Amino acid sequence: MRVRVVFLGPPGAGKGTQARELAREAGVAHIATGDMLREAAAAGTPLGREAKRIMDTGALVPDDVIVGLIAEHMRAPDAAAGFILDGFPRTIAQAQALERLLADVGHDLDRVVFFDVPEAELLRRLTARRVCRVCGTPFNVASAPPRQAGRCDRCGGALYQRDDDSEATVKRRLDVYAVQTAPLLAYYGNRAVLVRVSGEGSIETVRRAIHEALGQEQAR
Ligand code: AMP
Repeated sequence: MRVRVVFLGPPGAGKGTQARELAREAGVAHIATGDMLREAAAAGTPLGREAKRIMDTGALVPDDVIVGLIAEHMRAPDAAAGFILDGFPRTIAQAQALERLLADVGHDLDRVVFFDVPEAELLRRLTARRVCRVCGTPFNVASAPPRQAGRCDRCGGALYQRDDDSEATVKRRLDVYAVQTAPLLAYYGNRAVLVRVSGEGSIETVRRAIHEALGQEQAR
């Protein structure tokens, strides 16, 4: 299975959960722009502080900042074996920049996997989400709670609620998604790399659907 893919979909669709697992299994790089920005924010760098201010409003960080971050990672040796882009691109301009970057490193995208989840379900998931402060693993306190409350099953780290997972900010993020990111469906639909999976159902059900989608013929 070749894995040079984009995971596309609204916040809360399960991209991060699935990307982590698949990247581990396939031995490819998991490149998550949201994680990078949160790391920069936690480190207190100038970029991180500015990104945090924007993220907390639910808006997108400027394209040039994000493309700069991604460029480094796409050229790094661990991306040569393959990659999963999680949360990038989020605008048409970012998708165009990605095409240029891929042309530079001599790769094509195998697939863009769209995670389809109804908005009511996204709202439920995002407000119940808790994330491990150490390893970033997400949990859902309603549907998939950790074995020990407040602790990560994987590494024992403390779980926290992201500042942008408050109900007001979640609504704004969903609006931003509809206006700025959803147009990528038509963009990639025209390039015949787009596959849709239902992001509803258990983590395992969605995992199987992604495997199937990645095994499909290019033109479908
Ligand atoms: P995520 O963890 O993917 O939900 O991203 C959290 C926040 O980081 C988003 O709401 C944006 O503010 C910012 N962000 C992450 N990825 C991007 C991107 N590709 N373009 C612009 N902003 C981004």
